[in-house]
Amino acid sequence: MKNFIDDKKIEEYLKNAVAPDEKELDKILKKARKLKGLSFEEAERLLLVESKEDIDKLAEVANFIKETIYGKRLVLFAPLYVSNICNNECLYCGFRKSNKSIHRNTLTMEQIAEETEALIEQGHKRVLLVSGEGLGRNGVDYTIDALKTIYAVQKPKGNIRRINVNIAALEVEDYKRLKEANIGTYQLFQETYHEETYRKMHQSGPKSDYDYHLGAMDRAMEAGIDDVGIGILFGLTDYKYEIMALLQHIKHLEDKFGVGPHTISVPRLEPATGSDVASNPPHPVTDSDFRKIIAILRITVPYTGIILSTRENAKTRREALHLGISQISAGSKSDPGGYSKKDHSDAQFSLGDHRSLHEVIEDIVDMDHIPSFCTGCYRLGRVGKDFMDLAKPGLIKAHCYPNAVFTFTEYLEDFANDTLKKKGYALIERTLPENVLSAKKRKEVLENVEKIKKGKRDIYY
Ligand code: SAM
Ligand code: SF4
Repeated sequence: MKNFIDDKKIEEYLKNAVAPDEKELDKILKKARKLKGLSFEEAERLLLVESKEDIDKLAEVANFIKETIYGKRLVLFAPLYVSNICNNECLYCGFRKSNKSIHRNTLTMEQIAEETEALIEQGHKRVLLVSGEGLGRNGVDYTIDALKTIYAVQKPKGNIRRINVNIAALEVEDYKRLKEANIGTYQLFQETYHEETYRKMHQSGPKSDYDYHLGAMDRAMEAGIDDVGIGILFGLTDYKYEIMALLQHIKHLEDKFGVGPHTISVPRLEPATGSDVASNPPHPVTDSDFRKIIAILRITVPYTGIILSTRENAKTRREALHLGISQISAGSKSDPGGYSKKDHSDAQFSLGDHRSLHEVIEDIVDMDHIPSFCTGCYRLGRVGKDFMDLAKPGLIKAHCYPNAVFTFTEYLEDFANDTLKKKGYALIERTLPENVLSAKKRKEVLENVEKIKKGKRDIYY
């Protein structure tokens, strides 16, 4: 496969470009308010915006788009790390092969079931399976067994209804097997699109092959995986370069498969044991840059989910919510077995947000948003291009908001204390009219809420 990142074009643009003046910026933002996204050339213009006032303007439009398309809801998930054994030498990661200071471990199926139970007991319904690349030739068999194990755990308080997967690049045949095993989104981050930096950062192991890594989403989509998630590890090289290249990646997938990625993840480098790169990022992304990055993505690809993890602290995560983040992890541990044990010295990187799922949910409710554990779209086949076609203004709200309410009601009934219950039901009542416009539909939503209160589970549209 040809490397589709036009490195020269990006370098040239960044060398010569000047920030848009007020007139140009306002024109682009006016177009953005129409909720149809921007051309990538327009997005590139926004990347050059630097002043606080102009970034505030971007943030305001991003918030408008977020509120109009997604409404007041935020999807929650938990990562489940199954192995920290890795044959790669990614200089920024605590799991890299040469790091002798962590204890290596691959969970047995029994341990995976225990971790799953612990997550279900917290209230989770959505899991992201994460692994180092050290499972050997039988890695795909192991992953499929792990998926089966997680899906099979049934507790009185529920089960895991959707598993997304974040594991190393594979061949088409292996992706086909993952699809058959019912994975949700397949996630893989390019980390950096800048080839020279990529080579420096990935010194040995299978992941050091830039072209192979870059082609992973093509292979996954060829294998029929409908939803793929891409991402950048911010801090390795100039974020402007990364965003321009990420847009080229999206365009490549859209041209070839008729649909772009389902999600974009935006991790920033966090300290990791023994990693100089992680402690001193070569191109640190400031909070202000980060705000700009999220706003530009929200404005440019309004229907693509944006994921923020527990790497970020609570304050950043609160701000990001208003800029258009649609999913966050909560109550996370980044070490295999982390949910069933107390010592977390084998973690991949340090977490910025140590709050429990309960605390994160309280915070989201205080920000007037409905925490959602919804898995409706995937289970009704609204995936890939079907999802994008459906994701017109109003439609996400029509499906996602009621589903968010149903899954939140389950949480309130099964896991919440009285204070949160009171706040939660008041929030549902308050936000229902602005999110579900038809009186008939509102009545139906409330009837379903009553059914859930009486013990019915797993209602979704
Ligand atoms: N091993 C697979 C891979 O590398 O794609 C998947 C799992 S890896 C544990 C998941 C992601 O963690 C990586 O893609 C990388 O972006 C992120 N990561 C690694 N080290 C990090 C650090 N120090 N701070 C923040 N994120 C990090
Ligand atoms: Fe291994 Fe992934 Fe960490 Fe690289 S980022 S060392 S591949 S776990």
